[in-house]
Amino acid sequence: MAEQPTRRRAWDLPRDLTPEQRRSRRTWIEHYLVELDRRYRSLDEGAPADYIPALALADPSLFGVAVLGQQGQHLRCGDADVEFTIQSISKVVLYGLALETWGRDVVHERAGVEPSGDRFNAITFDDDDNRAFNPMVNAGALAITDLLEGDTVDERLQAMLDAFERYLGHPVEVDQTVYRSELETAHRNRAITHLLVSRGIVSDRVEEIVELYTMQCSIVVTATDLATIAATLANAGVNPVTGEQALAAWAVRDVLSVMLTCGMYDYSGEWVYRVGLPAKSGVGGGVLAVLPGIGGLGVYSPPLDKFGTSVRGVKVCEDLAEELGMHLFEPSPPWTREP
Ligand code: GLN
Repeated sequence: MAEQPTRRRAWDLPRDLTPEQRRSRRTWIEHYLVELDRRYRSLDEGAPADYIPALALADPSLFGVAVLGQQGQHLRCGDADVEFTIQSISKVVLYGLALETWGRDVVHERAGVEPSGDRFNAITFDDDDNRAFNPMVNAGALAITDLLEGDTVDERLQAMLDAFERYLGHPVEVDQTVYRSELETAHRNRAITHLLVSRGIVSDRVEEIVELYTMQCSIVVTATDLATIAATLANAGVNPVTGEQALAAWAVRDVLSVMLTCGMYDYSGEWVYRVGLPAKSGVGGGVLAVLPGIGGLGVYSPPLDKFGTSVRGVKVCEDLAEELGMHLFEPSPPWTREP
């Protein structure tokens, strides 16, 4: 029989902690965030997105990690309160809103729940069912954005901003510089939307769909905000700080399932294997991961890998899953073991 792989353990808690502190999840996570900062701050891999000109200006040294626990307690490290644009992580919020507003059947007629195996902006469709593969790739997200309710762009934008506010507990705004920069160069998303129209999947308001989608991607957040969205999803849709129900519990289950299988695009299989947490990345450098039963994690660091995901963000999630035992199928997290 092959030997059990030895658990990587490149760090430990300080020696002077009481047994009670050693059994506390908070103590472990608090010390671990500092350790992650020490480990990855100097990492020099990847590059900020440049296909959206305004994103290329991001400082590659920025690195922030935030955790929000289910009792509403925040832990932060580094640049956790630096603002950036949410980009594709917004797809999580819009998918939930569409499910809640229209129900599963209407939503799934537009976007299924199958990983595409392709890049986030691939021009591919599920031909068998004439829909986008899933709501996490651009084709699916554009089809979902078209489901925003309202008679005017302003009303539909407001419905979107209100949904974000329910998750975050504070008003949000669209970064106009990033918005304009992306809209001017959004030829690929426009092409995808035209194809969605030609297939009869979305309404023919092409420019309005691309505008609203680009606005949702340009919403300003911090790593702390991402941790709040993730913690809300970990908490059956209730924001642990404000107590507000941001999303119905049944829809949370759907959103987390799709995040787990499709959230990291064509890295999703590897992601489930290595990290085992529902997650979503954005080309602004943000990553959020849901820690079921514990809370939410948000990471910000602009340099991206070839999948369009933050390099430090992936490292943080991989290490956390492995060393703190956060993988969904992990049998024994460290704080449950004898000190
Ligand atoms: N706004 C970006 C785009 O459509 C979002 C992509 C992403 O974050 N993966 O290209």
